[in-house]
Amino acid sequence: MAFSPHPEPAHDCALPLGAPAPGTDRRMLCVFPRYAPSFGTFHHSFKLVGARAFFPPQGILLIAAFFAARGWTVRIVDENLRALTEADLAWARVVMVSGMHVQRDKILDIASRAHRHRLAVVLGGPSVSAAPNWYPEVDMLHIGELGDATEALGERLEHDLNRPAAQEIYRTKDRTPLEDFPTPAYHLADTGGYLVGTVQSSSGCPFKCEFCDIPELYGRKPRLKTPQQITTELDAMLANGIRDAVYFVDDNFIANPHAAKRLVEHLVTWQQQHRYPVDFTCEATLNITQHPDLLALMRQARFTQLYAGIETPEEDALVAMDKRQNLRSPFLEAIAAINSYGIEVASGVILGLDTDTPDTYDRFCRFIDASHIPFLTINLLQALPHTPLWRRLQAEGRVLATPGPGDSNVRFLLPRETVVNGWRHVIAHAYQPDRMFARYLYQMHNTHPHRLPVPLSSPRYRPTALPRGARIIANVLWHCGIRAPYRTAFWRMATTALLRHRNPEGMLWAAVAGHHLTTFTNEALEDRTEKTFYADTMPDPAPLPPVSND
Ligand code: SF4
Repeated sequence: MAFSPHPEPAHDCALPLGAPAPGTDRRMLCVFPRYAPSFGTFHHSFKLVGARAFFPPQGILLIAAFFAARGWTVRIVDENLRALTEADLAWARVVMVSGMHVQRDKILDIASRAHRHRLAVVLGGPSVSAAPNWYPEVDMLHIGELGDATEALGERLEHDLNRPAAQEIYRTKDRTPLEDFPTPAYHLADTGGYLVGTVQSSSGCPFKCEFCDIPELYGRKPRLKTPQQITTELDAMLANGIRDAVYFVDDNFIANPHAAKRLVEHLVTWQQQHRYPVDFTCEATLNITQHPDLLALMRQARFTQLYAGIETPEEDALVAMDKRQNLRSPFLEAIAAINSYGIEVASGVILGLDTDTPDTYDRFCRFIDASHIPFLTINLLQALPHTPLWRRLQAEGRVLATPGPGDSNVRFLLPRETVVNGWRHVIAHAYQPDRMFARYLYQMHNTHPHRLPVPLSSPRYRPTALPRGARIIANVLWHCGIRAPYRTAFWRMATTALLRHRNPEGMLWAAVAGHHLTTFTNEALEDRTEKTFYADTMPDPAPLPPVSND
């Protein structure tokens, strides 16, 4: 399907005239579309731990809180937890959707269902903010972060809930400072269905990696919430059923290292006061090793995982993609340094770079073995709008209108077959069960002993938590130990974890995460996964105007 930009003239921050809607009409349905499965969605693990989705959608919870504070009745449907129903649509007076590029088809499907109910649809979030002209079918577009456009949108809907004759665009020019953001509406979400909670403490990143759209969309000067806001959000999450783990979804947790340190000091106090109810995870650049005082505090706060965008172990590739911050210390030393604070490293790596050679794939495999990183998202290069990569490849005629095999929109320099087969070789190597479990065992031996012990008085060990723990053990034994094709490798890992490392929690996490990784790898190798990115022809994205506080 090809489509053209706005079918009718769009206008910024339009405020149509109309009679005020009665208060009872202020019923907003906030919908978050289902993700396409990937290495990072952990969907195959859910049945083992009793979860139905990975984590709550921060953007939807934020917009729900914003409109609830204006007197709206808000209902949240995360399609990763349950399907949107006709009854939801019959209840609503307006539908708000948010999503990323990978969710585009689902976004359009939700809009079309809402239109059959004669409901106006508003779309916000990262995809429409980067590429508004990909959504001509949607009634109102909210482009950018919370700010003056959100206020204008609220006023518009409070005066007129009807679908507009022409698409309306609300573009944030003045961003609301993060310290004025409301607490996300955890109380409106079905939080008990999620594997982990999420919190965002900052936005933006000072670096400018060629493939990444964060600096152009959210700015290079990090903007911050206050530590008190974060602890209030953590309290709200606990009160609404989030347990076990909280993921900091900041683009780069150490975008401002001094602010990160201040925040983690508060997190240490919060954990002590609450007796360590959760572990923390974050995304950060590897130059975090230049801040040992921060890493020591993170250990005290029980940060147990850190997702680092390693991208590639090849130096010329890092220089070419302008990710020189990864060259400040040798990879293996940096990873071992982070491990020494009890923090496991997870990583994203990219294949299909211009610097790749036919030998690259074997070098990736050797790097994965040597790094002992248990969980890696191994992806082919994608060109995202509003990145230097997109512009360079467009100029070279190398952005594909329709993705080729391997689900990437890039015309690689190597033959596509070489790249796709190389990717298959790397994922098969990484997630061969014995090899994968060996990396988890390495973590149990070398990383976990450095962790701060959780006190026995922690809410994690309350008697009420025991039945759930027993169910997880039973599920792991049934699915991984009896039914799984890799069960022999599972038992080798489990006996070593229990008898040699005396680490039942590490064993359970290796089983739960490993079940997803091996199962998804088999599906990917057999080509049974959903397409994840550009399912159709995409026009060029429109240029982004500046915002006030960039
Ligand atoms: S460090 Fe991470 S968030 Fe920052 S520009 Fe690079 S890839 Fe993007």
